[in-house]
Amino acid sequence: MHIQRHPLISPSLGTQRELLSFHYGPRGRGEKVYLQASLHADELPGMLVLHYLKQRLAQAEQAGLLRGEVVVVPVANPIGLSQNLLQLQLGRFEMSCGENFNRRYPEFAEWLGDQLEGRLGNDGETNKRIIRSAMQAALAAQRPLTELGSLRQLLTGLALDADVVLDLHCDFEAVMHVYCETPCLDQAEPLYRLLGAEAVLYAKGSGGASFDEALSGVWWQLAERFAGRFPIPQACFSATVELRGQADVDGAQAQHDAGQLFAYLQARGVVQGDMPALPPARCTPTPLAGSETLRAPHAGVMVFRHQPGDWIEAGQTVLEVIDPLSDTVSAVKASVSGRLYARENRRYALQGMDLCRIAGAVAFRTGYLLSA
Ligand SMILES: [Zn+2]
Repeated sequence: MHIQRHPLISPSLGTQRELLSFHYGPRGRGEKVYLQASLHADELPGMLVLHYLKQRLAQAEQAGLLRGEVVVVPVANPIGLSQNLLQLQLGRFEMSCGENFNRRYPEFAEWLGDQLEGRLGNDGETNKRIIRSAMQAALAAQRPLTELGSLRQLLTGLALDADVVLDLHCDFEAVMHVYCETPCLDQAEPLYRLLGAEAVLYAKGSGGASFDEALSGVWWQLAERFAGRFPIPQACFSATVELRGQADVDGAQAQHDAGQLFAYLQARGVVQGDMPALPPARCTPTPLAGSETLRAPHAGVMVFRHQPGDWIEAGQTVLEVIDPLSDTVSAVKASVSGRLYARENRRYALQGMDLCRIAGAVAFRTGYLLSA
């Protein structure tokens, strides 16, 4: 194992943050897997899971079991971690510019499409190498001016040539769930079965230029652009893994999750060992465009009738919003059937606020599919 330290752009005199990446196994042989945690800063379960996974990887490396490189970034967002205001930690958005830490990652297919015209050929593996080196060059040519820009560039650079990219997040209160792009669903199956995901949400580009989609999107977008002319494999499987809710930071659970991620590395062949038995899937993947967000009809106190993990039937009341001034009690009902996979952790609703999400099986939304 070796550690690399990556300085971020200094935003202010006397201040210098850095990113640490931990590299296990041989470089340039076998598959490369990249894992990072807590890109939104106040989502800590992944940090703890990677703490335990690092120990498993160190043991495997000592035993000579690593067949490829595994790169681990347990603290992907030192900027957000330092954002504290009035005793509250504020992740998700960078405070100086308001941007979401998991948006605005490179749209490589758009950047590279034209310049790849004359360079691709009939061999998919060769095309993969050409595209990766073009991605590398395009990223290196970026000159970020802000600390946040340099963070995005560094994280992308570490993950760019990985065959598997896992971005570990969590929701407010939630069951284990996974987001990935539709062309990655086959590759996602061993992962979501091992993790016991209760919802898997897929989309072909959700519109937010999120980290995971920057890495997987380039491949299917270029494959579509050059369809019938040049073969381009889906050379990166990336997923956003939502490790339940923000308060689900538990030693035993995190060790179990780290063990399941380690089993996934065995299933990919990055760690030598018997192919682990895959547990049955706990859900059928559903389109992100079929996920319904229930919103507050007015301000008030939220009283949930259902927990994350509950199955909801269309028409069922999931919660009530109660205004104790007018004594209005409003039932908030689902219009789709599916798993309630995430809900708010606050209990005071402002008018129009997102309250919870249900993984419906039928796509009904279009356009931008993510939350803010
Ligand atoms: Zn997140």
